[in-house]
Amino acid sequence: MTGRRVIVLGAGVSGLTTAVAMSLAGCRVVIHSAEAPAQTTSALAAAIWHPFYQAPDLVYLARARQTYATLHRLSADATSGVSMRTLTEYFRHDAGMPWWAECADGLARVPATDVPSRFASAYRMDVPVADTGTYLRYLMNMFLDLGGSYVQRRVEDPAGLLDETDVVVSCCGYGSREFGDDGLSLSRAVVLRANRDDAVRGCYIDDSDPAAPTYIVERNDDIVLGGTADPGLTSTMIGEQQIADIVHRCARLCEAVAALQIVDARVGFRPVRRAPRVAQDERHSRLFHNYGHGGGGFTLSWGCANEVLRLAGVGTARV
Ligand SMILES: Cc1cc2nc3c(=O)[nH]c(=O)nc-3n(C[C@H](O)[C@H](O)[C@H](O)COP(=O)(O)OP(=O)(O)OC[C@H]3O[C@@H](n4cnc5c(N)ncnc54)[C@H](O)[C@@H]3O)c2cc1C
Repeated sequence: MTGRRVIVLGAGVSGLTTAVAMSLAGCRVVIHSAEAPAQTTSALAAAIWHPFYQAPDLVYLARARQTYATLHRLSADATSGVSMRTLTEYFRHDAGMPWWAECADGLARVPATDVPSRFASAYRMDVPVADTGTYLRYLMNMFLDLGGSYVQRRVEDPAGLLDETDVVVSCCGYGSREFGDDGLSLSRAVVLRANRDDAVRGCYIDDSDPAAPTYIVERNDDIVLGGTADPGLTSTMIGEQQIADIVHRCARLCEAVAALQIVDARVGFRPVRRAPRVAQDERHSRLFHNYGHGGGGFTLSWGCANEVLRLAGVGTARV
């Protein structure tokens, strides 16, 4: 037990995961967050484990692998909101096994006879998926049960908090731009939620076109259909044509999607950075950063939190 006092900024998936990991390692943690978990970008995510639009990268792979393993363990707890689902991913060019194949259980190539002719190949694998509302609440409850506390407030200067604590970890997503990171930008994402239907089981992805990622994510509570990737767009308006286009693209992966009842359409903004900033601050040695995960905040969450623990020298945490 280190007993070190830690302030974590942010209550999205990065902040909550970091706060839980720090608490498990024996720190006394307080979360300060401008918004409650249900109001964050994280609450809007499809929350499937998947290295979206990501070129092969060993650092990313190590973080994604750790996250896969932890979420897989959590899926054994029915209250976590995490479940393992079969994902079928279609590829327009056959480049062999996906570069993250070693992370995924049960990975198998889909027989060519079962792959629609417009695709070159497909792979099937088991991946973790989170019902975001349930999972964020689960993390918050685990954090509070471990003795953590939560304060709702907007912070102007993370380094300014170092006078009142030993360590600060800033997990503010796009909010970190206000702290001076010009390398952060937004990528607008539209997702639809549909009622569950037995005709649509499992998850499907065609991630070949970075401008039009297409995915169907079966969760315990609903089915999420996506998506879009519009860098720099900040409008929250969603046109009927955009909804129809998402349904049309998804139905090309699983025909039964066309008959689903869409219950709402939402816009979220991925916090994009050349690479996530998981690092010690250059000027303040007790300030650490964990933000800028783009379309992979859930996929990287436990790996990045563990990296913060290592950088801050507070040992390890196992859930
Ligand atoms: C539609 C959509 C679908 C997605 N699907 C997936 C997916 O399937 N899989 C996946 O891995 N990722 C997905 N993502 C990406 C993922 O949602 C993000 O990478 C992730 O949510 C980022 O989490 P975060 O905790 O870093 O940031 P956020 O969730 O944005 O949380 C930031 C926190 O910081 C707080 N904050 C900000 N500024 C301040 C301040 N000044 N003071 C105090 N607190 C502050 C906020 O209130 C909030 O609590 C998706 C994203 C979108 C938009």
